Amino acid sequence: MTTLTLRQKRDDRYRGGHLWVFRDDLQSQPDLPAASLVRVVSAEGFSYGSGFYHPTSKIAVRLLGADVESVTTEFFADRFSHALAVRQALLPGQHAFRLIHGESDLLSGLVVDIYDSVAVIQMLAAGMDAHQQNIVDALRLVFPSLQAIVEKNTARVRELEGLELRDGILYGTVPTPLDIDEYGVTIRLDLLGGQKTGYFLDQKTNRTIVASLAKGKRVLDCFCNVGGFALHAAKAGATAVVGVDSSASAIAAAQQNAQLNRLGNVSFEVANAFDFLRETAQQGARWDIIILDPPSFAKKRSSIDRAVAGYAELNRLALKALQPGGILVSASCTQLVPESMLLDILYREAARLKRRLRLLYRGTQAADHPVLLGMPETQYLKCLVFDVLD
Ligand code: SAH
Repeated sequence: MTTLTLRQKRDDRYRGGHLWVFRDDLQSQPDLPAASLVRVVSAEGFSYGSGFYHPTSKIAVRLLGADVESVTTEFFADRFSHALAVRQALLPGQHAFRLIHGESDLLSGLVVDIYDSVAVIQMLAAGMDAHQQNIVDALRLVFPSLQAIVEKNTARVRELEGLELRDGILYGTVPTPLDIDEYGVTIRLDLLGGQKTGYFLDQKTNRTIVASLAKGKRVLDCFCNVGGFALHAAKAGATAVVGVDSSASAIAAAQQNAQLNRLGNVSFEVANAFDFLRETAQQGARWDIIILDPPSFAKKRSSIDRAVAGYAELNRLALKALQPGGILVSASCTQLVPESMLLDILYREAARLKRRLRLLYRGTQAADHPVLLGMPETQYLKCLVFDVLD
């Protein structure tokens, strides 16, 4: 195995546990093929373990968090078993969960979601892509009752490592329908069909918080996707729930989920959430709970200002449409906008409208999306729950 040496005084981030070795931090850049296993050592000879090399990506090595001699089915099965034990301990009884959250599970570039009897895998980097068969075999070892393994390799980041985009079945047959249960709410998934709806597993704990506040309330779920928050609120006894999303296929799936759960107190509509909020705000404060869970507003640093303006506008519109004593659930999955920045936006917008906000709950990504302390990239979701004290 080739050993690569870091330049002098370039190893603070690796000492702190970061798993991406940037090209500029290396003394030499050998012409090895993508996915070669290499060892990385400090200028003083301390080993940061081995990882997958890439000859052109800005991330030259993705460390595996240990001195791994060879990457085999057993290697993956061992990591999957450890990951499963943590999920089962922290989220008992949940059959839909993220098994592998990339770097946080020391498998940079790999995401694995388990939806009951189906595993959905994403390989975002060449090292993982090269080991597709080992990954499939290891999943079958650790989950003997799996009926299908689906690859969803459609994320554009793959292109940074020269990988093509593709999706499809790698093993077995996907059962239809495929229903999962999330704390008593049934969600139907269409992983391969026309709609291709997955599910946002990261909000599952925050949905239970919203459910616990929803009884007897009028609830507006903006950016509802297939209905996650709305369905939980309706099931918990909200008087009326409206879910809004700009995707027609997500709304069709949400409507189907409402029927599956026999919920007559929830309706869904295709709309731009900004427009919907603007109109509802003009009609005055009439919602008891408003949930905002927009897609990421910034993928690169140069867009942070625009993201901040987007969050400010969204939260301002929601605050205008909230009853006194109402509840605002303000989420952000933009990794580059930390919780302190989101709190600051809420503070400014509430002050501008002379409304007093009290922070009741600070949610984050569910426990199946753990955070690697030395890698801020693994922490992305904020879900702040306020009530309006005025
Ligand atoms: N709250 C959801 C997840 C939201 S993901 C859950 O609990 O599962 C973000 C959603 O925002 C996607 O479904 C996307 O279709 C939708 N979206 C993106 N831009 C939008 C817009 N301008 N108005 C409404 N929905 C939008």
